[in-house]
Amino acid sequence: MDGVKLVFLGTGGGRFATITQKRRTGGIRLISEKLNIHVDPGPGALIYSLEAGLNPQKIKTVIVSHRHPDHYSNAEVLVEAMTRGMLKKRGIVAAPSNILSGNGETGPAISTYHQNMIEKAITLKPGVKFTVDKTKISGTKTVHSDPETVGFRFEIPEIGAIGYTADTEYFEGIEKEYKGVRLLILSVMRPTGSPWKGHMTPKEAAKLVEDVKPEMAVATHFGMKMIYSGPAYEVKLIENTTGVPTIAAFDGMKLQIDEKITIGKIKRKQQSTEDFLKHN
Ligand SMILES: [Zn+2]
Ligand SMILES: [Zn+2]
Repeated sequence: MDGVKLVFLGTGGGRFATITQKRRTGGIRLISEKLNIHVDPGPGALIYSLEAGLNPQKIKTVIVSHRHPDHYSNAEVLVEAMTRGMLKKRGIVAAPSNILSGNGETGPAISTYHQNMIEKAITLKPGVKFTVDKTKISGTKTVHSDPETVGFRFEIPEIGAIGYTADTEYFEGIEKEYKGVRLLILSVMRPTGSPWKGHMTPKEAAKLVEDVKPEMAVATHFGMKMIYSGPAYEVKLIENTTGVPTIAAFDGMKLQIDEKITIGKIKRKQQSTEDFLKHN
């Protein structure tokens, strides 16, 4: 069975975690034999991708959940990598309309110049589906301060389904979006006792995990309060209430998804400048 690898190039979220980089904000890379997808390229996506030895020029698809900088701000530079320095029309970008077209108040967040160099731009909304190398990707519903925010569901023929809530608060019916996923990645920005509109704490995340019952749940996108409280400690509540193995993602975490899901860590590249110049 060909597996899928997910690399967490960032696990921080919200303004202060981003501007202090207490946790990185580079997003998630999904790689298989066929796929190379970057999800939510926030600040650091390019740098941490290079550091992890994941060549950004191999990316074939960039997906952005919404127009907050911790999710989109490295999108253009990843398009430049994906198009081999804007020399080859290549790749797909999927993002909500305020990212691709702007909405008067904001955006676009990926310039027309960059959009002209990709093969296809897909405007995402909940329910919009598209296929990349036999993997069906669909936009899922959210409730967040940016009303155009979408989460995702990836149906990957080799391994099954993966869900990613993106930034959302808990709402009635959210579980329907992720029914049957093997792995559920949740944005859990706030710790228990400190809820914030448009986001989840472990308590709401547990409700969702309880209804979806995935094989494994991963909490990520930790804000400052969550970081200080301790994400590993905080997310225990999810596992304790649901019985679903749940982990707090860490920067550089690697999940290998085959028949089983295994947790690992990327090796960071340590190169001298001389080496770097020789090999790049
Ligand atoms: Zn966010
Ligand atoms: Zn947001």
